[in-house]
Amino acid sequence: MPICLACGRKTILRAESFPGYVQGYTYDIYECPGCTLSTVSPCVEREEVYGWIYGWPTKVPGYSRYVQLADRVARSQQPDQEISRFDAVYEFVIRTIRKERPDGGRIAEIGSGLGSLTFSLRSAGYEAIGFDLSVPAVESASRNFGPFFRCDRIEDSISPGDVDIFVCTEVIEHVRDPLDLLLTIKGLMSQNSAILLTTPDKSAFPEGAVWETELPPIHLWWFTRDALEALASRAGLNISFVDVSRYFRPQFVRSRQESLVRLPTFDACGKLLQRDEPARARITNLIQHSPMLSPARWARRAVQRARGARPYSICAVLRLGEPETGCR
Ligand SMILES: [Zn+2]
Repeated sequence: MPICLACGRKTILRAESFPGYVQGYTYDIYECPGCTLSTVSPCVEREEVYGWIYGWPTKVPGYSRYVQLADRVARSQQPDQEISRFDAVYEFVIRTIRKERPDGGRIAEIGSGLGSLTFSLRSAGYEAIGFDLSVPAVESASRNFGPFFRCDRIEDSISPGDVDIFVCTEVIEHVRDPLDLLLTIKGLMSQNSAILLTTPDKSAFPEGAVWETELPPIHLWWFTRDALEALASRAGLNISFVDVSRYFRPQFVRSRQESLVRLPTFDACGKLLQRDEPARARITNLIQHSPMLSPARWARRAVQRARGARPYSICAVLRLGEPETGCR
C-alpha cells in the first residue's frame, strides 16, 4: 500500500489490474483518503512510449490536436492569440505571463512537446526556451519554430535566477516523481519568479471516478486542487489557483470524439492499435473552431456549467514559500 506522495497518508486500493496504454500491461490504482490524489502501481515512466507517440503524432488519439495546433500557430499572424483560442490552459498561461511580466521576461517551458506555446511566447516578445525529453518532439519543434528547444533536463541547462517564469502545462501527471520536479524547479527560482502549472482536474469528474484520464504509464497521477495544494506545501511552495471557467470560450467544450480511449493505444512492440485518422481529426477540429457553431457550443457549455461541470484542468501559480515548510 503506497504512501501518498503529497500528504503522507496511507493510500487505498481502488482498482486492480486496470488496463494500461500499452497492451498487456496493467496497473493497480490507488487513492489517498486525505488529499484525494490518485496514482498507479507500478509508477514507472516508459520513455519509449513517447518515441512511439511522436513517431505517429498525426494518428495517435489525443496527440493529433497538438499537430493541428502547431500548424495553426505557425501560420498565424498572432500566435499568442491563436493558441489562447485553442485551449483554456494556454489562455491561462498567456494572460498570466502578460500580467506578471508586461515588459517581457525569460520563460522556460518544461515539456514543450511540439513547441507551439514556446513559439507563441517568443512571437509575443518573450525570451522563451522549451525543454522536452523526447528527441522526436524537440526535433519537430526546432524544425518548425527554430533553435529554441533543448532535449535536456532544465537543471543541466539553466542556473538559479536565469528564468522569470517556469511553464509546466499538463506535464506533472506524466512524471514518476512530481515532488522531485517541483523541488528541481524550486532550486532554480528567484524570489520574484513563478511556476505556471496545469494538470487534469479529477474534480471535473463525478465522485467515485477511478481513472478518467490518460491510461498509465502516460499519466501516473490524477490531481485535485487539494492534492496539488498538499504537494506544493510539501515542496515548500505557495500555491494559488486561477478559475479559468470565467474565460471559457465555446471551443473549449470538448466533443465526444475527444473523450478518452479506454483501450490500449499501442501493442507491446509499439504498433498503433487505436487511430485518430487525420481526415476525421481535421473535421473534428473544424467543427470545434467553426464560428457558425459557436451559439450551439455556448449553449452546451451553459448547460454543462449549470449541471456543475468544471474546467478540465487545474491552473495554478506557485511561488517560493517559507523555507521551513517541509522540504524532504
Ligand atoms: Zn494525500
